[in-house]
Amino acid sequence: AERLGKTREKISGSIDKIAIGRKIDDEVLDELEEVLVTADLGVKTTAELIGGLRGKVRRKELADAEALKGALRAGIEEIFGRTAAPPAMTAKPHVIMVVGVNGVGKTTTIGKLASHLSAQGKKVMLGAADTFRAAAAEQLEIWAQRVGCPIVRQKEGADPSAVAYDTVEAAVGRGVDVAIIDTAGRLHTKVNLMDELRKIHRVIGKKMDGAPHEVILVLDATTGQNALNQAKMFNEAVQLTGLILTKLDGTAKGGVAVAIAGELKLPICYVGVGEHLDDLRPFDAREFAEAIFG
Ligand code: GDP
Repeated sequence: AERLGKTREKISGSIDKIAIGRKIDDEVLDELEEVLVTADLGVKTTAELIGGLRGKVRRKELADAEALKGALRAGIEEIFGRTAAPPAMTAKPHVIMVVGVNGVGKTTTIGKLASHLSAQGKKVMLGAADTFRAAAAEQLEIWAQRVGCPIVRQKEGADPSAVAYDTVEAAVGRGVDVAIIDTAGRLHTKVNLMDELRKIHRVIGKKMDGAPHEVILVLDATTGQNALNQAKMFNEAVQLTGLILTKLDGTAKGGVAVAIAGELKLPICYVGVGEHLDDLRPFDAREFAEAIFG
């Protein structure tokens, strides 16, 4: 929770500055609207939150800054509450396709996720379907060794969907519980990338009915509104089932979690709060709201 300190300062600290000692009226709400947009909650989601607060102000339900924060916190929890639940891991193997732009922390996150699931006693396998960057497969291999799980990889430039297919096949053959497939994230060839992701998705589905069971987009919280735009873009190309927000530690832009949940109605499955293997936490809306408003 303390790792959200900067986001807390940005949101809760700014609210204190505009609201403490004042009567909570429309003018305060106007200022609050600006604070929330600046704190990366997104124009649309902010408008929704402020709309809810206006009714409360009219009914004189918000006596002071504390009441205002409480109501805002409830509004934020409600937005998270409206997102779909992540799919249950009922299939064997449960196939997770991981997508995201280079640099967001995708490889690290896959390593952390593999570690997290292994610690729960699950047999995990990785698939290196980012065949575009040799370094990506190498990095993934290092994570696989660290976690102690098998990995399927081919040589650089191999067909990514063939690697994905082989991963699912190997996972079925070896009785793996969860197969996690890494994909490319080169954005300079956006159309090609989205086509490639769709093809991987299709080919996985051919190998195993109902797979991939999850398509998780990894987003870098420090990029704020860019993360929101990436979420919209990827969700149009391949239907996402959930998100992982990385680098929440040390950024003041954690509010983007609310914007993304509000606009895309997608669950945030995990958050990354550091560079180490155990720095991946299941996302908990209550905890998140509490960390922001304390
Ligand atoms: P990829 O290109 O998306 O695969 O990105 P990488 O997994 O290589 O990560 C890029 C950088 O972000 C690395 O230096 C990671 O250690 C760092 N990183 C990843 N997740 C987190 C996180 O949750 N917090 C912090 N502080 N750094 C992270």
